[in-house]
Amino acid sequence: MKIVHTLADLRLALAASQHPAFVPTMGNLHAGHLDLVTRAKTLGDCTVVSIFVNRMQFAPHEDFDSYPRTLKADAEQLRAQGCDLVFAPSERELYPQPQTFKVLPDPALADILEGHFRPGFFTGVCTVVMKLFQAVFAGKAQGTAVFGQKDRQQLMVVRRMVEQFALPTCIVTGPTQRAADGLALSSRNVYLSAAERAEAVQLSLALKALGQAVRASGTPDLPALEQQAMQALSARGWKPDYLTVRRQSDLLLPTPAELATSALTALGAARLGSTRLIDNLDI
Ligand code: AMP
Repeated sequence: MKIVHTLADLRLALAASQHPAFVPTMGNLHAGHLDLVTRAKTLGDCTVVSIFVNRMQFAPHEDFDSYPRTLKADAEQLRAQGCDLVFAPSERELYPQPQTFKVLPDPALADILEGHFRPGFFTGVCTVVMKLFQAVFAGKAQGTAVFGQKDRQQLMVVRRMVEQFALPTCIVTGPTQRAADGLALSSRNVYLSAAERAEAVQLSLALKALGQAVRASGTPDLPALEQQAMQALSARGWKPDYLTVRRQSDLLLPTPAELATSALTALGAARLGSTRLIDNLDI
């Protein structure tokens, strides 16, 4: 496995590849990331993982500075997983000048849910993903990138970006990997105290209960059920941003008729102490 830090070295290392399979990450890797790498290995002739904490997708009050950076341990895990190439650029390498050209995603998808609570987040995501795709896939016959369903909205935003810019990139997804108690694995779980870690699974349990309540009722009052779900988490000491049920197709609110018939997903984001967790479950 090779580790490169510059765009020039990345291109050299990829010179013989016609079809890279790429997993973009921010590092502090866990079994969720490694599952995506395992999938990538079957999808191309060179498995590439990027590790880059992208300042542009963090608001000034968010955890950019404290985000765990564990390159050595990440590289060991990736080597053991059979990754071929790690791209770990510096900020200066990826953003040599202030990034004044940006990819502005469709607000109908990117300004709701995560985008509502983290304004500009998906602009930062799309801009860095566009740069990374360009770095990894330019000049290749074909490219595949693998994203996790854990970040459901991100996956959909990236898919729509690829469609609308007609990027020659195939997007493949992997299901959310969970700890034994059901907590979705996340790099941010390291922020949790022991007591918070024991509590953390309640977010996915709340989403499951919300989904069951929607499906159990013939004519559910969705806003009331969402409100109840948020109140139940608040009563346990959480600060929920949203717990909601949306259409799988576009993450918009289902009509009453669609509540009974459409493919739906429950999505949530909530703060436990100072850690913000997100999760989603198809219902
Ligand atoms: P991140 O390092 O958090 O930016 O995530 C990098 C990639 O890993 C994204 O495509 C995420 O959706 C994916 N990912 C993060 N957590 C999980 C998980 N628990 N299961 C599967 N994929 C995940």
